[in-house]
Amino acid sequence: MTVHIDIQEPIDYILHFASPASPIDYLKIPIQTLKVGSLGTHNLLGLAKAKKARILIASTSEIYGDPLVHPQSEDYYGNVNSIGPRGVYDEAKRFQEAITMAYHRFHGVETRIARIFNTYGPRMRLNDGRAIPAFMGQALRGEDLTVFGDGSQTRSFCYVDDLIEGIYRLLFSDFSNPVNLGNPDEISIQDFALEILKLTNSNQKICFKPLPKDDPLKRQPDIKLAKKVLNWQPKTSREEGMKMTFAFFQNVSDKQLYKIDHKDFSKHIKH
Ligand code: UDP
Repeated sequence: MTVHIDIQEPIDYILHFASPASPIDYLKIPIQTLKVGSLGTHNLLGLAKAKKARILIASTSEIYGDPLVHPQSEDYYGNVNSIGPRGVYDEAKRFQEAITMAYHRFHGVETRIARIFNTYGPRMRLNDGRAIPAFMGQALRGEDLTVFGDGSQTRSFCYVDDLIEGIYRLLFSDFSNPVNLGNPDEISIQDFALEILKLTNSNQKICFKPLPKDDPLKRQPDIKLAKKVLNWQPKTSREEGMKMTFAFFQNVSDKQLYKIDHKDFSKHIKH
């Protein structure tokens, strides 16, 4: 991705999802995260231009940083710490949006930008470090659930099938400005951990760990634009989606339910 891409065949559509997206991953490979979002995107935009292909870019709610506006709509410019540990992801994605709009405006490339909020569902990597696989793994191994901070920070989780429908509609729309895709159903991380204990019928408790640096305190998509231009909104409730996700995790063998290594986070917690 970060070197020139040579493809002989014609291309109609490019969907650029390449990037680590879990905080634990981009803390491990910060330079690669910056490179794939910037150089990788540049290469793919060049390919789209050469092939006259339409390109959809996976952006993120992280471009809003720790937001001062709630819920977050597309016209909010964000509150990102460029030099913090999460900056490698956030700024790569912000650059990605900027270069994508430049290729659209300057070269007339047909571009689409999806600002994806927290998404979940079956087949998430078990050790990917994000809240849902972390909590599910802990519940199934009989461990306490590690809530970071006091658990009052919020997230809004979208079931994967809904997100895919939104991506599909955006790709085939004629809308080139960024569009939020996510489920506005907001919950605090502590309440969410309690929901998971109930769903998994676990006797464990919650244990509190320090909040990672720059962990956003609130996150909820304003999806008015997606409703208007894509006629899209999520259909799957958290209850339904989490049941399907739990069914997946239950069928994963014990060996795959490996422990998450939280020391990657702890390095960055107290700066
Ligand atoms: N979180 C947590 N315990 C964990 C993993 C995550 O309390 O074991 C919190 C994390 O601090 C954040 C929220 O859950 O406030 C969602 O984290 P995730 O990594 O899933 O995604 P983010 O929205 O931060 O990119």
